[in-house]
Parts: sequence; structure tokens; C-alpha cells
Amino acid sequence: IAYSSYRQHHLQPIHVVLFPYMSKGHIIPILNLAQLLLRRPGITVTLFTTPANRPFVEKSLANTTACIVDIPFPVSVPEIPAGVESTDKLPSMSLFVPFTRATKLMQPEFERLLEILPPVSFMVSDGFLWWTLESATKFGFPRFAFYGMNNYAMAVSRSVGINRLLSGPESDDELITVSEFPWIKVTRKDFNPPFTDPEPKGPLFELTMDQIVSVSNSHGMIINSFYELEPVFVDHEAKPNAWCVGPLCLGETPKTEPQSHPKPAWIQWLDQKLDQGSSVLYVAFGSQAEISSEQLKEIAVGLEESKVNFLWVTRNKESELGDGFEERVKERGIVVRDWVDQKEILMHKSIQGFLSHCGWNSVLESICAGVPILAWPMLAEQPLNARMIVEEIKVGLRVETCDGSVRGFVKWQGLQKTVKELMEGETGMEARKKVKELSEMAKNAMEENEGSSWRSLDMLISEITCKVE
Ligand code: UDP
Repeated sequence: IAYSSYRQHHLQPIHVVLFPYMSKGHIIPILNLAQLLLRRPGITVTLFTTPANRPFVEKSLANTTACIVDIPFPVSVPEIPAGVESTDKLPSMSLFVPFTRATKLMQPEFERLLEILPPVSFMVSDGFLWWTLESATKFGFPRFAFYGMNNYAMAVSRSVGINRLLSGPESDDELITVSEFPWIKVTRKDFNPPFTDPEPKGPLFELTMDQIVSVSNSHGMIINSFYELEPVFVDHEAKPNAWCVGPLCLGETPKTEPQSHPKPAWIQWLDQKLDQGSSVLYVAFGSQAEISSEQLKEIAVGLEESKVNFLWVTRNKESELGDGFEERVKERGIVVRDWVDQKEILMHKSIQGFLSHCGWNSVLESICAGVPILAWPMLAEQPLNARMIVEEIKVGLRVETCDGSVRGFVKWQGLQKTVKELMEGETGMEARKKVKELSEMAKNAMEENEGSSWRSLDMLISEITCKVE
């Protein structure tokens, strides 16, 4: 049923609790989900955050009725430096397991707060916060796990299976045919620990298993994707309770106020390039990637030698990119070290390509903006996202690695060649055409009352609240 007609008969307030994991790539889509829920009448939203993440959350949810509730991040976890409440602030991603395990110490306070909140209709919490299922069960409301992955990566991972990865291929580069999707061939390098560890029973394996068990015992999964993008894989994953409600980056409340003034320096710089009739490559590798200084220097030389205009967002210092680099390229390249509004950059008309680590939010934002991708995967499921981008939905090409593998060292020559191909070549042009078509489909999927993702979220709400009544 459409939510609007459902509302005529069910007038009880619907209260949704949202609990994102503490990392930018996980918080941002949940903030968008909050906005998407609040665009429906009769829904209230409570979002849990830790104090250090609160300013970011508050800024995104300003002008909404969302209730933001602080929950302290556990102190006295020996491995985690004091004050670090987000994985992007961790000194190294090797602390991911203790950081994530530490979140369980929040459970008593979470449950104390649930006692004083109005009754909860359902909760969406991050897949990494496995223990929130126990709280939901105690309080008797359904929990949906938020998965920041697409259906392609989930379906391919499941189909290949951990045993085949560990025992099958002789080398990391040997091709494995994915039995349920025989046109897809992967290598062990498309996957990450714990699924590639020969000795898999370590702490990461255990944590991952806890999360998998919790997700499968939850009421369902919320997936940041849309049907038209990957119908084969959505159908494959379509259990009764997996809901594609994205791209969430299009879920924001439409802005009524004019853009921020003065415009950030980098947007002014893009405006200038647009006035000159020039196109720009956007370069960013997300909030988690750890790139060696040797690799950073190759990137800098590759960008310099490619002679394209570029905007590079990085947390790395000038000395790490090579002495004098920024001065030499200043006519056509700008390096930004602030937090930027990535969507604003991608939507800028001058941006004609995105050199990306293929974090799923970045991929969706690029698709929505109609910008083709030069795929350079690094962590997590990014190698599978890159495969999807290049082989399945064909909205980009791969950066050329030295050994030809899905991820490996990239020399400046390989970068230069593929950057030019993306910005000026035939393959780049085809990808640009395809991504613009998908961009339209993404907007249609999110169209109020009509789109597939909008209706999917409507159905979820109706189904849950009907059951509760
Ligand atoms: N992002 C941003 N500004 C920045 C850096 C990142 O807006 O300066 C956003 C980006 O738009 C995306 C998210 O942070 O929504 C990063 O998520 P993604 O899945 O792409 O990568 P991750 O950082 O999780 O590896």
C-alpha cells in the first residue's frame, strides 16, 4: 500500500530509532535516511550519537524535527586513544576490532535511554553494532540492520563462499568463476580478511561472525541501493525483508535556503574552470584509506603528467605529495585538506571524472551526479564495487596497476594513461553516457510516492506498523 493511503487508516505515531556506526561513511547515509523518513507525515525519529560526533550530526539534521540523543563512547578501552569516537580518527585501521568491540560497552546506557524514550516502532542500526539486536529484542521492537553495501557485493561474496576462497585458488590472482553468476570472475584479491586469512579464527573473524548472526536474526536489512541499478542482484538477495531504499544521498530534504556564502574556495575555483570551458577530475580516497608515501608521490606525478585539471581532497601533508608539487600545478590543480561537501563537488558542472577508492557512498554520489569513475579500490568490499563499476554497470574504468591485479601499486605512467582515457578517451565517453542514464534512474527511484526506493521504504513502514497494531 502507498504510505499516504495507509496513513489515512493508521494514525498512531511512528517512532523510528536510528543508531549509526561511528564512521563518516556509515553516519552520512543514516542521516540521509533520517531525512527521508521525516519527509513522511506522522513519523518521528530519534538518532543516537556520541558527543564527539554530535556537531556533525546536528549540522546535517538542522531544520528537521529529529531528536538527537547523546550516548557516551566508552572510555578506558586501552587500545583506543582518549577522545577518539570515530574510525576516521583512529591512528590506524588495525584498531577497527577493539574500537568496534568497545561499542558493546554502550549497551547498558543505550537500554537506560530506551526506557525513557517514547515507545519505538522499529530501529535501524548499523550492521557493525551487532549487540543492538539484543536490546531491541528486550524492548520488543524490530531491528533492521543497515548495510552500507550493495547487492552485487553481497551476492558475489555469498556465492563464492569463504571455503572456496581459502582452499580453492592456488594464487591470489587466479580467476574464480562465480557459480551463480558465471559471467563474473573474481580473484582472492577481490576480498579482504577475515575471509582471506588462512588462519581465520582470529578476533576479526569472530567479530564478523557475531555481526552476521545478528543480521540474520534481525527483522531485515536496509540496503543503500536501488532496484534499477542491479536488478539481477537485488532479485538474488531478495529475502522477504531486504529493502532497497537508496540512493540515500538523494534522501535529503530539498534545500530551500540559498547555497552557503561565501562559497568555499574550491567551489570558486571550479566556477572559474567552468567559465574557462575546462573540465576537472575530482580525486578523493575516502576517510579510511591509508596510502603509502611512495604511492602518494606516484599519484602526484601521474596527475601532473596527465595535464588534466584536478581537485584533490586529501588528509596528507604537502611534503608527502612531493616537494613543490602544489606550486608547479597551481594553474590547473588544487589540493584541499578541509572537510568538503563531496556531493556539492560532484554535482559541479565542471567535474567530468572521479578518481575514487570506490567506497559505496562515493560511488552512489558519483552515479547520482552523472560522473564516470576511475576505480582504485583499497579496502573492505571496494574491489568488488570496482568490478561492479567496470564490468557490470559500466560507469567507469580501472586504474592501471603495475602487476595488473585488482589492487596493487600504481606507477605514475599507469595513472596518467587511465586518467587521460577517463577524461578524453572513448571508454571514458561511453562510461559518461552510461552514468548519465543511471543518474536519471536513481532520481526516478527516489521520486516521492512513485519511485521504487520510495515505495520500498513505504512498504517497510506499513508492514511493520500494521504488525505492531
Ligand atoms: N565525504 C565528504 N567530505 C569529505 C570526505 C568524505 O562529504 O571531505 C563523504 C563522502 O561524500 C561520502 C563519505 O564521506 O558520503 C565517505 O563514504 P565512502 O563510502 O565513500 O568511503 P569511506 O570514507 O567510508 O571509505
